[in-house]
Amino acid sequence: MQPLDYHARRHALTALRQAVLRHQDALLAALAADLGKSATEAYMCEVGLLLDDIGYTLRHLRRWMRPHRVPAPLSSFPATSRVMSEPYGRVLVMAPWNYPVLLSLQPLAGAVAAGNSVVLKPSELAPASAAAIESVVADMAKECPCVSVVQGGADTASALLEEQWDYIFYTGNPHVGRIVMQAAARHLTPVTLELGGKSPVIVDSSAHLPLAARRIAFGKFLNAGQTCVAPDYVLVHRDVHDRFVALLKAEIQRQFPDGCGRIINDRHRQRLAALSGAALSDVEKPLVLDGIDASHPAMQEEIFGPILPVLPVGDVQQAIDFVNARPKPLALYLFTTDRHVRQRVLGECSFGGGCVNDTIMHLSQHNLPFGGVGESGIGAYHGRHTFDTFSHQKSVVDRGLWLDPSMRYRPYTGAKLKLIRRFLG
Ligand code: NAD
Repeated sequence: MQPLDYHARRHALTALRQAVLRHQDALLAALAADLGKSATEAYMCEVGLLLDDIGYTLRHLRRWMRPHRVPAPLSSFPATSRVMSEPYGRVLVMAPWNYPVLLSLQPLAGAVAAGNSVVLKPSELAPASAAAIESVVADMAKECPCVSVVQGGADTASALLEEQWDYIFYTGNPHVGRIVMQAAARHLTPVTLELGGKSPVIVDSSAHLPLAARRIAFGKFLNAGQTCVAPDYVLVHRDVHDRFVALLKAEIQRQFPDGCGRIINDRHRQRLAALSGAALSDVEKPLVLDGIDASHPAMQEEIFGPILPVLPVGDVQQAIDFVNARPKPLALYLFTTDRHVRQRVLGECSFGGGCVNDTIMHLSQHNLPFGGVGESGIGAYHGRHTFDTFSHQKSVVDRGLWLDPSMRYRPYTGAKLKLIRRFLG
């Protein structure tokens, strides 16, 4: 099949943008039904980000698609060398339930921008959103038949993974991530795995505490803590611990007087109740777990809910050691005004991405690749990185015909070896 040219890709992305705009109210209603998201949160964190991403891609697509020349070494003279971005072919996108619209349609848009056809499997755990997404894609497919949706649960996902794909883009938990990678290995299919984990926050004694409390509360309790890059726990310097906790609790009162959203289902409600010891009826309320240590159940797995453990540490070295003794997190947030602390934490801790003096904002920037490392994922996307993720980089050397030095051809002589030594080594 002939890959989609620039105009076809543009047409497809424009059709997607128009479909999202047409179905906007249904998407917002579905996000309210599945996750209790307010219209503001649903637009700010899903529909708006998606439209912004599509717009950005449309503005840059022509440049991204252009083969780019790279310098050719003297040994290849005369030649021009180019890198061409070519689509992989058929892409499978498997999406989770926590940001069901954004995490389904953003990779779909990126895969189409790179010229691929896409089968999207939304999460069965956010059924209203999955239905609204299907309507959007059906609308888009009228203009561009290269996209389709398959609905279903784990069985459907397993059946899809039995097929041969040219690329698999999976967002979700690391357990299923391993299943995806094993299935992909059968056909040597490349994968992106956008996973999760326990993302730490380090609050240093030099931190601007009111802003730290405000921004941590925002990032943590958004979507009831069901955000892959939500702060999972806080390591706070002992000297500022009490003040920080008081400010944090005040911020929670200020920002979330009516709660913070809906926990997706009973299984997760029960899991969260077991982690915090709270009553089932209270698991949707923000909770600061103070006075616990690393052996607490909430410190043994990704929390993915509105529970925030706060653990005191003696100094920044202790915080760094704590983070480095655990799997590499998807995000790390550091609150400090001390540049030496900043340098040490950023230099000594490995993590997917993060912020200094803020939380989660790194994911909204087109120029920053978004993805995990180690246990938190493989590969990255957003902006140009999405286009590159869904493109094979094909290297081409275009040799001139007017000169053909004999150096590399047999028969080899001492003089040729001397010349080769000059070029290589
Ligand atoms: P989920 O349960 O909806 O699963 C994701 C996808 O995997 C779904 O399409 C589902 O049908 C499929 N699936 C489930 N079980 C399967 C199986 N046995 N075999 C094959 N496919 C299967 O979502 P989830 O995993 O609960 O999502 C939450 C997790 O995702 C958290 O760990 C979170 O940190 C992570 N996450 C990461 C990112 C990121 O961008 N890195 C974004 C959002 C969520």
